[in-house]
Amino acid sequence: MKIFFLDQSGKPGGAELCLIDIAKPYRSSSKVGLFADGTFRILLEQNDIPVEVLTTSAIQVRKESGLLQGLGSLGQLIPLIVKVTKTAFHYDLIYANTQKALVVGAIASFFSGRPLVYHLHDILSPEHFSSTNRRIAVISANRFASLVIANSQASKLAFIEAGGRAEITEVVYNGFDVKNHQTSELDIQGLRQGLKLEDKFIVGHFSRLAPWKGQHILIEALTKCPKNVEVILVGDALFGEEDYVESLHKQVVELGLEDRVKFLGFRSDIPRLMSACDLVAHTSTAAEPFGRVIVEAMLCGTPVVATASGGAMELVEAGVNGFLVTPGKVEELAIVINTCLKEPENIANLANNAQISASQRFDVTAINQQISLYINEKVLKSHPPTS
Ligand code: UDP
Repeated sequence: MKIFFLDQSGKPGGAELCLIDIAKPYRSSSKVGLFADGTFRILLEQNDIPVEVLTTSAIQVRKESGLLQGLGSLGQLIPLIVKVTKTAFHYDLIYANTQKALVVGAIASFFSGRPLVYHLHDILSPEHFSSTNRRIAVISANRFASLVIANSQASKLAFIEAGGRAEITEVVYNGFDVKNHQTSELDIQGLRQGLKLEDKFIVGHFSRLAPWKGQHILIEALTKCPKNVEVILVGDALFGEEDYVESLHKQVVELGLEDRVKFLGFRSDIPRLMSACDLVAHTSTAAEPFGRVIVEAMLCGTPVVATASGGAMELVEAGVNGFLVTPGKVEELAIVINTCLKEPENIANLANNAQISASQRFDVTAINQQISLYINEKVLKSHPPTS
């Protein structure tokens, strides 16, 4: 099957990392088209996935854009739509992985006659998107997509609540290569030594630095933990959140935590770093559409605490495979950290349960088969490949 994947981002967020795993089995006959250049292109190339950057400058529509700003970007969109439409004729289907990709893909689908799949990685709620953006996404998907793949029940529900068609929407969780999450004890020790954290209880936070990802909550919770608890913040501002990064550094200084919080920036060795942590904290203050980092921590065998909202609730069963806390509640997070510190055996059992169940639930081969099944059933039966 020849698939033309589309993604608006040049940077590797969760949706983009997920796309790498989906596109890989189709790489001999498919291509990824990007609306911006950046490190995501390099990652695709490293995975031998054909990729083309389709624009010379990134499209300027932000999540919170209103109608006027959205229309203002049409001048940039038209040449892109023409290019995507022309390219689409050489493929069996268009697979839009982000919202701007959906809009461009929808128009290209209309003109090329190629069916459209939309992979929904977002919760289309007012806390994440402007009403204009939600409306455009729902109308484009309802009118043009044969299949919407939602990354969680939470994302599916929000899509339907925003007016999306339930009958074209299926939930498929992100898939992970389980063997990539195994790290040797020697490697873990080396890493802890390198970070000068051998004898510390390390709480890791793995996410782009953005206010709703809640790194500030973890920093505050650290003030309520003993001195041997330290935090590593892994990730960088991906979408212009530099002010937040500055405020985090300021917060660390104001709380006198310079020796206990390390900013490691964006890293490509997530499984190793997670394996070296004693606890992974997910602290999103708004509903998380899926929460890849939660599953990754489980696969590494590291205990995980997540905020009880959105997709995270479908991944974590409190007390069985992890911990759940109320979003934004510093005190609750501190209690979990302190419990984990005091009861290492209990939390090791929990992490072990999580590792076993996550390896079965999120195995990338099984997940990719699910996607292929839905494409065959819901798309190709009514739009058989022309080649
Ligand atoms: N990640 C990474 N390097 C970093 C920080 C994060 O590769 O320095 C990865 C992380 O392992 C996860 C993804 O970025 O796979 C984030 O996905 P998630 O669903 O947690 O959040 P999103 O970015 O989609 O909001």
